[in-house]
Order: sequence, then C-alpha cells, then structure tokens
Amino acid sequence: MNPAAALHLTADRRRSTGESHQALHPLLSGPGQGLSIPAARDAEQARLEAEVFQRVCAMGGLSCHALGIVRVRPQEDVLTLRLVDEPAVLGHWVEFLYPRVSDIRDAGEDPRDRVSGVPGLRSARVPGGVRLYRPGLKAAILLRGFSPDRWERIAAKREGVYGSVLRRPDWTTVEEAAYDAQRVQPFDILSSLLRRIRATAGAGPVNSTDVWTSGRGIRLETTDGPPCSDLVRLLTKGPCGLGWEVTAKTCTCRCDHPHTSTGCSVDFLDPATGRPVWYSNLKWNRTLDDNRVETLARLRSVLT
Ligand SMILES: [Zn+2]
Ligand SMILES: [Zn+2]
Repeated sequence: MNPAAALHLTADRRRSTGESHQALHPLLSGPGQGLSIPAARDAEQARLEAEVFQRVCAMGGLSCHALGIVRVRPQEDVLTLRLVDEPAVLGHWVEFLYPRVSDIRDAGEDPRDRVSGVPGLRSARVPGGVRLYRPGLKAAILLRGFSPDRWERIAAKREGVYGSVLRRPDWTTVEEAAYDAQRVQPFDILSSLLRRIRATAGAGPVNSTDVWTSGRGIRLETTDGPPCSDLVRLLTKGPCGLGWEVTAKTCTCRCDHPHTSTGCSVDFLDPATGRPVWYSNLKWNRTLDDNRVETLARLRSVLT
C-alpha cells in the first residue's frame, strides 16, 4: 500500500482517537480497508466507560483536550486514555470519580443518593499509569500520561476528606445497592462516544464536551466543537462511524457572515437502538485568557 493511501485509511480514526499513524499502520488490513473503532467487548465494559464518562464530563474546559484526554486507545477488553499532564485535570478526575458513601442517617431511601462518584470504582497503580476497575468484574480503563505518584498523592488527599473507599479491595454494601439500582442507561452509546471523544473537540485552545441523558435520548454538548461537517462524517458513515443518521440540522459553520451567540445543532438518530442524540455546539470561541490561567492556578491549589 502506498504511504499516502495508508495515511488516508487511518485519518478518521486519528481524528476520533488522537492515535498516531505509526501506531495505527500495523492494524491496517488491506487496500481500501479503513480502520474501524472497536466497541467495548461486553455490557460491563461499556457500563464502566459510560459511568466514568458521565462523571468526568463535569470538568468543563481546562485545556484544548476535551475532558483532558489527549489520546484514546480503544480495544475490546480495555480502554486506555492518555490524559494531559495537568494537575488540575488529574485533580478533577480523582474528585469526580472517587466513590463517596454518605452517612445513612442523613440520606434518602435510594442507595444511589448515598453514593457519589462511580459506585464500586477502585484504582490501582500499574506500570506507567493507573488502572480503574470494579472488584470482581473484568472491565478496565487504563489512565496514562502522568506520574502515578501524582495521582496517588491527589487520591490520598481525597482519602483524608472522604475515607479510603477508592482503595478498598471489595465493594461496600451501599455501593453494591447503588450499582444494582441503576436503571438501564444507554451505556453502549456513551461508551462509543468516549471511544471517539477527540471527534468532539474543535481546533481552539479550550474544549469541553458534556453528555447527559434526557428521556430516551442523549444530549451531547460542546462549547467549541469542530465544524459540524467533520463531526457528522465521523459519527455517521465511514469506517469509524456509528451508523447514526442525521434527522435535523441548524448549522452556521459555513456562513460567510458573523453570527453572534448562535451555535449549531444536529439531531442524530441511532437506528440500532432507536435513541436520539441531540448535539449542540455552543460556539463560545473561548481563548486562553488571564481568567483561565487564574482558574487553573486556583484549581491546582484546591484539587491537588
Ligand atoms: Zn455547524
Ligand atoms: Zn448565516
């Protein structure tokens, strides 16, 4: 295969995951065969990815990397995420994921109200990174790109405040109940999106991506997302796509005149599940101004 053709065949996957052509080249199977993105092996793997995704979305825009994810390495049985080595980002990951069990006396009936973070989530140091998992289950997410010592220090600080659940070898009873009580969620769709998270980031210096469920559907929101044509291509047809269909679109990306406070929206439908995904790009055009630098400095001191 000539180099230009090979480069073309890895293009969509590079855009969706941040992987390098060099890393992807050995995966190419033959002429004209673009690379796909493997889905999570089973419902449990998809669920872990979806629940982690839903929590860390709260981070907002701290860097050009949405959720602080520089690169995704999607494999069937494990998802590897390279995070930006920024203390404030790592602090948020620990803060949002860390399972906390509230005292029984001041909480409601539903066990889910008594656990914040991801119920049952544990973290373990592995060579070169940190492994997120749930005791007794095979699902795993590997985090890389930073010093595991730093992660441990941040986690230890949280332990002082919340207790040492993150390093307990087993589930607490409340976490188990919260896990069992969780309604059926579109875990597959959320996992698929996390495996393509880079597709939701635009070219600007600050990106944030948020998802939440709404009725039967999912809302996907970016503050400074990519041109809609790129996102639509990456999520619909094509080897890395999800087979989604576009059912409605309001887009100003190709306008030659300025639009003030006008974002774009695209309604997708996932034919496989019948679920709608409503996307909007708020187009805030954020920059790395002094406020943002100050915010980062403040978060570093609070979170790490
Ligand atoms: Zn647009
Ligand atoms: Zn216009």
